[in-house]
Amino acid sequence: MGLKDLPEKAYIPLGRRGMEAFRLRECMKCGNEKEDDLQLLDRQDVTEKEGKNLLNIKTYKIKCNKCGTIYKIIIKSLYVEEQTEENRLVSAVHYWENGEEQWLGVF
Ligand SMILES: [Zn+2]
Repeated sequence: MGLKDLPEKAYIPLGRRGMEAFRLRECMKCGNEKEDDLQLLDRQDVTEKEGKNLLNIKTYKIKCNKCGTIYKIIIKSLYVEEQTEENRLVSAVHYWENGEEQWLGVF
């Protein structure tokens, strides 16, 4: 298991100034971007029905071997009717650490 299926980038909307890209395959704490040092501890993939839509939640629990931080990247994607890339409305990226979850961006 690796971080291979984690999208490389997500974006922070900056209103009228557009979007700012940030890397997902790096430690949010120390900026370590050596994928060999980012250890995937657990991965969950759950899809729930929400009326006509599907909500897919992918959770990546990651340990940074450089600074020791354990965190999760949580990707919540909304699909219309079918879970295909064409039917994907939006994906929200959340960051979890020590029980606290915060919104990071979209892709
Ligand atoms: Zn780190």
